[in-house]
Amino acid sequence: MPMEISLFRCRTDNFGLLVHDPDSGLTASIDSPDGETICAELDRLNWKLSHIFNTHHHYDHVPGNEMLKQRTGCLIVGSKKDACRIPGIDVQLQDGESFPFGSGTLTLLETPGHTLGSVCYFLQPDKILFTGDTLFSLGCGRMFEGTKEVMWQSMQKIMALPDETQIYCGHEYTLSNAEFALEIEPGNRALQKRAEEVRQLCREGRHTLPVSLALEKATNPFLRPHSAEIQKYFGLEDAGEADIFGAMRELKNSF
Ligand code: ZN
Ligand code: FE
Repeated sequence: MPMEISLFRCRTDNFGLLVHDPDSGLTASIDSPDGETICAELDRLNWKLSHIFNTHHHYDHVPGNEMLKQRTGCLIVGSKKDACRIPGIDVQLQDGESFPFGSGTLTLLETPGHTLGSVCYFLQPDKILFTGDTLFSLGCGRMFEGTKEVMWQSMQKIMALPDETQIYCGHEYTLSNAEFALEIEPGNRALQKRAEEVRQLCREGRHTLPVSLALEKATNPFLRPHSAEIQKYFGLEDAGEADIFGAMRELKNSF
């Protein structure tokens, strides 16, 4: 049976994310933005937490780790590179290593840039990618620790996954990301359509995630440094993709 996913708000704009395997009864939380809210959602669904998979060490992604581990005895999985910054970590994975989760597996992909230890998890066979703060819908995370070259490489790593991959990220930033994307690539028809859909979803108080990788490749400017319209906006027609990516990220910081 396919995995069941519960997506809900935590803190202000973080997503809580539970993944439930109906075959084994296991339930994983992607990050732990708020232990109490996650417990309430587990109770509502009558799911028992068995794992936490952390995407990175930031204060809004790990604060529930220790409380949830104490209450549920769950196993905490994270990146070996960031083990010293992930509270309560039990299992350390390196790039490309998979961890069994009920009838599926989660494969850790090192995607540095937002932080040096940032990772994504690819859930198979469901083809679902959890991107934390590395990739958002229509945007990407700030480069707190990585360089534009490093983060652009991480974007390319994500783009190499199957187009039908469904993406869940760490924050509901899609509406404001859409404004920035439209500013620098106003002629992109797929983007115009997605922006309209996002406005409608937000008006209805609904989440804008998940989104397919194919749609992100067509609409997310941070995956589109090859776009002639974006290159022209920045006056960077002859620049390399990492430089165009870097220029976008820099402008977004002050947008
Ligand atoms: Zn973060
Ligand atoms: Fe965050």
